[in-house]
Amino acid sequence: ATPTAIMVGTGLGARRGVLFKNAMALETSARVQVVVMDKTGTLTKGEPEVTDVVVGDTVTQEELLRLVAAVERESEHPLAEAIVRHAGDLGLEPRRAERFENVPGHGAVAEVGGRKVAVGNRRLMEREGVPLGKLAGRRQELAEGGRTAVMVAVDGTAAGVVGIADAARETSPAAVAALHELGVEVVMLTGDNAATAERIARQLGIDTVIAEVLPGDKAAKVAELQGGGRKVAMVGDGVNDAPALARADLGIAIGAGTDVAIETADVVLMRSDPLDVPTALRIGRGTLRKMR
Ligand code: ADP
Ligand code: MG
Repeated sequence: ATPTAIMVGTGLGARRGVLFKNAMALETSARVQVVVMDKTGTLTKGEPEVTDVVVGDTVTQEELLRLVAAVERESEHPLAEAIVRHAGDLGLEPRRAERFENVPGHGAVAEVGGRKVAVGNRRLMEREGVPLGKLAGRRQELAEGGRTAVMVAVDGTAAGVVGIADAARETSPAAVAALHELGVEVVMLTGDNAATAERIARQLGIDTVIAEVLPGDKAAKVAELQGGGRKVAMVGDGVNDAPALARADLGIAIGAGTDVAIETADVVLMRSDPLDVPTALRIGRGTLRKMR
């Protein structure tokens, strides 16, 4: 009955938009004990929007946004796109950036009108040797509110913070609850700040958060969770997630994600709905029962 059970399971999945790439993917789905979920674009919609623009004493809000937008125009990061869109909505004229440098997992640096502008997380500010000063408290407040706080330094001085929100997908809390009901541990994995990630995790009912992970370190985190022979599934959407999807016992890609993620994964969720993660595991379990 093995091939029949596999065909039934694959067909059941296909009807729900859960594409198992092969028989092995279906069988592994039954054995998953830990589900690691990428935050941005997987648990959240991946449509960041600027909510706050905070400045210190050195530049005005408009000036800050002009400088930041100039740098971020050169970047392809989703946070960068949100900032550029926001500046555009306010009718701020874009400036030219020179000597642009992308710093993966940190942010970006460039020169705008002879001034050196650094845009990114706390780690970037440390790297640039910029003390946060009075803006540290504002950064913390934004992070505790679940915002991604993007710090801005101009000529080595902290000049402002841009708060960015990325709404959770509507079904994320239900997906987490359903996974818990299946006896599966749920872990959030993200490059974002710890306070921001923890706030969002709490809203979704996730108890384990691994935050501030550099793009190249996601796979190593999955490997750590595999300790003791635990079967780990990784759910992700981004180019950054591909090595972790490959490393996991079961890689699950969000259908709306990047081609690399979809190609690397064992299972693809065509509807991009986190609720289809527990669905995949249930179909796997049902299939395995029929094979015994
Ligand atoms: P993730 O997309 O999972 O948050 P990344 O590794 O792409 O992970 O980025 C980690 C963090 O680095 C982001 O949360 C952000 O704080 C900062 N960052 C990276 N690139 C940029 C950028 N172009 N502009 C502002 N912040 C950035
Ligand atoms: Mg993502």
